[in-house]
Amino acid sequence: MTVAKSVSLEIPIRGMDCAECTRHVREAIGSLDGVETVDVLLGAEKALVRFDPERVDLPAIRSAVAGAGDYTVPETVPVPPDSSQESLNRRLRLLMAGVFSGVLAIVVLGEWLGAFEVLNRLVPLPVGVAIVLLGGWPVFRNVLRAALRGRITSHALMTIGVIAALAVQQWVTAAIVVIFMRVGDYVEYFTAEGARRAVRDLSALAPQTARVLRDGQEQNVPAGQVRPGETVVVRPGEQIPVDGEVIGGQAAVDQSTVTGEPMPLEAASGVRVFAATILKSGSLRIRAHRAGPDSTFGRVVKMVEEAEAHRAEVQRFADRFSAVYLPIVAGIAALTFLISRNPLSTAAVLVVACSCSIALATPVAMLASIGTSAKRGLLFKGGKYLETLARADVLLVDKTGTLTLGRPQITEIIPLGEVGVRELLALAAAVERDSEHPLGQAVRSAAMAQELPVWEANHFQSFPGQGVRAVVDGGRITVGNRRLVPEAASLPVVQGLERQGKTLLFVARAPVQGGERCVLGILVAEDTLRPEVPAAIQALRALGVGHIELLTGDHERAAARLGEQLGVPYRAGLLPDEKIQIVKRFQGKGHTVVMVGDGVNDAPALAQADVGIAMGAAGTDIALEAAHVALMREDWTLVPEALQIARRTMGVVKMNLGLTAVYNFAGLALAAFGFLPPVFAAAAQSFPDLGILANSARLLKQR
Ligand code: ADP
Ligand code: MG
Repeated sequence: MTVAKSVSLEIPIRGMDCAECTRHVREAIGSLDGVETVDVLLGAEKALVRFDPERVDLPAIRSAVAGAGDYTVPETVPVPPDSSQESLNRRLRLLMAGVFSGVLAIVVLGEWLGAFEVLNRLVPLPVGVAIVLLGGWPVFRNVLRAALRGRITSHALMTIGVIAALAVQQWVTAAIVVIFMRVGDYVEYFTAEGARRAVRDLSALAPQTARVLRDGQEQNVPAGQVRPGETVVVRPGEQIPVDGEVIGGQAAVDQSTVTGEPMPLEAASGVRVFAATILKSGSLRIRAHRAGPDSTFGRVVKMVEEAEAHRAEVQRFADRFSAVYLPIVAGIAALTFLISRNPLSTAAVLVVACSCSIALATPVAMLASIGTSAKRGLLFKGGKYLETLARADVLLVDKTGTLTLGRPQITEIIPLGEVGVRELLALAAAVERDSEHPLGQAVRSAAMAQELPVWEANHFQSFPGQGVRAVVDGGRITVGNRRLVPEAASLPVVQGLERQGKTLLFVARAPVQGGERCVLGILVAEDTLRPEVPAAIQALRALGVGHIELLTGDHERAAARLGEQLGVPYRAGLLPDEKIQIVKRFQGKGHTVVMVGDGVNDAPALAQADVGIAMGAAGTDIALEAAHVALMREDWTLVPEALQIARRTMGVVKMNLGLTAVYNFAGLALAAFGFLPPVFAAAAQSFPDLGILANSARLLKQR
């Protein structure tokens, strides 16, 4: 068997103005030989394609896209629209609303006064037919193109309706249907734009230029071109162009674009700052770590753009529904004609039932929510997770770094004979040198505070959920809990300390060549509960999350103390693997499980949960990657908020879908029984899109 080495490519696509279009493009690319997966994103206007480069190439994909309809693959990636374009869009929208109401008024009046009948009789039929054909040419051309590829669209059915009207010499009716087909196209375009707006608004916040020090000179370069290690200079009111570390100056930084936190951060030397945040006052010199798409903000934008690929179940349902809906409509039209023999009723049936709004109902709402939330420090990686979170009933919570501040302090150092306090701490700090765990950080800080020398450590080993080990000063030093140093558990001093709920780090030394191990001492660590946790847990309960449980690798008493404080059950002494098993067990019982963690030692459990929520993801890469929902700042109030947003979004989605379905079927029924003249049917079919747009816009204004 040969292993195909496939590549992934992002291909920008223009001209997808309806949700039906995304299906066409997906099918066109997917049908190519050598294409493995395709995701078409309406919001980001691109396709994510995985393909085998030996069997298919970009030009082939490009021509498949072009062949599917009026779609194009631009040569260059377009720049995000500036604000003048935004206001132009707004004016266009107003203009469109005006034209729409005007046409509607004329149609209603005309039909009521019988003016169309008169017009029909006055103008010779061939002239009328010519008007219809010319006016509707762009629509008919697309219908023809799609039909040649064996694809039936909503507009194809409507075109048959137009032909039916012409057949009974009602050219004015046909013309009005054509007008509304085109008006409907615009409405749909703006509805699709509505979905894109949230994504575009976000990417418009990305920094454009950076002032870099090169050869002792300040130089303006595009923000994405700053190299790691370079120094950038940022002045008051300016945007920080890169992720990096402050190396000079002092400033108040508004980080709300990344973390959603409204209180500015006081930044001075040593503080980490993020691209796309803004200096309220002061100036900074920053050593760049990452820029452009690699920066935290860049990755957030990319994740929001690609969120559409993680489609919710309702979206899949809507897609499948669209695919069977048109044949159903065609069937109803055929029945109508057979029974009533009335071509105008038949035309009305064909005209009233545009399917685009059904396909748009979900993505427009989801993208509005995802885009808006991202600006507030709450990153949903897909509509799927909004959907799952909305019905979550079990919440599992990691302790260290998640419930607690994650900045434990070493409060006591207890040597047990062989070495003194300073040596004990120095040995432990050396072992913890490369540890990412908050406890490792605590040990290093304690050693630093006592200005201890930094010893060299080799053969570093990490035991997730247990501790660390390395060779220091000729001995094999272990720092960890009772799982890793079981012989320490029986020491009399241990029991008393554990009963107080403190976290103990045992330090043991063994000869490198093998031999008896000796417990050198104990480091006592204390961490405080985040102040906002109790209220957040209350809020989650009030939202109907039935079971909340604490999972920790720490010992029984530490877990018990916190559990009692919060009034939640707990499980202690868990390894990362056991946390996964617990998640699975709940899932096996049919629960929808949310896991909240900090990405340290619990990333696999986060990934296993139906929804993994990571705390403070702006700081840690693993958390940002592993989680399904990333909280960009360490703030528990965001957890119940995420649940509320998910519920609200699903409410809007269901309302969009429900109203559209009811509306369409009511329209179909009225048309089939001859109560809806084709001209009204044509007007009626463009309303659901407007409804979806308006309904979903509620999600753009959160808080
Ligand atoms: P939690 O499940 O509460 O987030 P972890 O699984 O991260 O905790 O760690 C569980 C326990 O393992 C800690 O309480 C500590 O005793 C021990 N441990 C983990 N990492 C380290 C380390 N780097 N140094 C010392 N002890 C550690
Ligand atoms: Mg943890």
